[in-house]
Amino acid sequence: MTMSEQAAGRRQDYDGTSPFPEAGEHAAGPAQVGLTAAIVVLPFIALGVAIFLAWGRGVTPTDLLLAAIMYVVTGLGVTVGFHRLLTHSSFIASPRLRVALAVTGSMGFQGNVIDWVAVHRRHHAFTDRPGDPHSPYRYGTGLRGQLRGLAHAHLGWLFSEDRTPPERYAPDLLSDPAMRRVARAFPALCALSLALPFLAGWAITGTLYGALTAFLWAGLIRVALLQHVTWSVNSLCHVIGSRPFKTRRHDRSTNLWPLALPSFGESWHNGHHSEPSCARHGLDRGQVDPSAAVIRLFERAGWASNVHWPDHVRTQRRRAGPAAARIASPDGAGPGRQEPGRAALPLRHR
Ligand SMILES: [Zn+2]
Ligand SMILES: [Zn+2]
Repeated sequence: MTMSEQAAGRRQDYDGTSPFPEAGEHAAGPAQVGLTAAIVVLPFIALGVAIFLAWGRGVTPTDLLLAAIMYVVTGLGVTVGFHRLLTHSSFIASPRLRVALAVTGSMGFQGNVIDWVAVHRRHHAFTDRPGDPHSPYRYGTGLRGQLRGLAHAHLGWLFSEDRTPPERYAPDLLSDPAMRRVARAFPALCALSLALPFLAGWAITGTLYGALTAFLWAGLIRVALLQHVTWSVNSLCHVIGSRPFKTRRHDRSTNLWPLALPSFGESWHNGHHSEPSCARHGLDRGQVDPSAAVIRLFERAGWASNVHWPDHVRTQRRRAGPAAARIASPDGAGPGRQEPGRAALPLRHR
């Protein structure tokens, strides 16, 4: 038996509570750890500096407005572009819109577009079981394991050497010259994402000080906020919240309403996992989903077509019965069940 066959065997044996077989793997090399640490820690240092500068005089409306604009533009690039369009093909975008969303998503400092999509498709293929790149259940379901798992799902996974091969999970994007170009430009787009607020602050206030505070608030702090909101969907939205819809076995994705607005609708994560290719994640009445609203605008403008909107009958069929209460059941299976044809996903990323 080869090593990969052994690993596949262990994955199939997963009981829903044990630590994953890969839980003992080591962190990545020092170069990757250093770079990731810089990307994660720098915005926090910036927050300290910004608070120091703002002490006693507050934040200017200019900085707040610039930060809000940058947050919305780059955030929608991630949710509408990276996630709903490029990972799950929940609609078809005009070529220009597709590139524009890939570019603004890249400015969110969350990795290049091709790697992001590959990791996220793998998350859907192995949700909350061995093979999931960022499951909070990696270290088991005991209290200590759960806390360690939350830290891993939020941030720790970025430091692991567990690489997701885009050749396997995102061959469609690899064969798209425009996406390859956007992926190659990732470092430049990150620089642009910080340079734009600096230049805007300079142009508006006419002072270097104004440029620097705009750089801090609309650059670094906005980046940190969006990163942590996105990562909270990976961590909290698999642990806390409600599970009104059926998902696959072991999948414990949840709907978490407090994050709905800052995550632009992505925290209706149980709805999303129950029907990954649906353009709207907030499947129930009153579930605010700004990303879906933006896709609707694109559709009206003629830039988006073939949008997979929710189908009422299908949604009702996916609704979990009283069995939803089983979320805390020891086997962790929740109300879901393995569906034929959706188990070995690799390239089917519905
Ligand atoms: Zn998820
Ligand atoms: Zn997804």
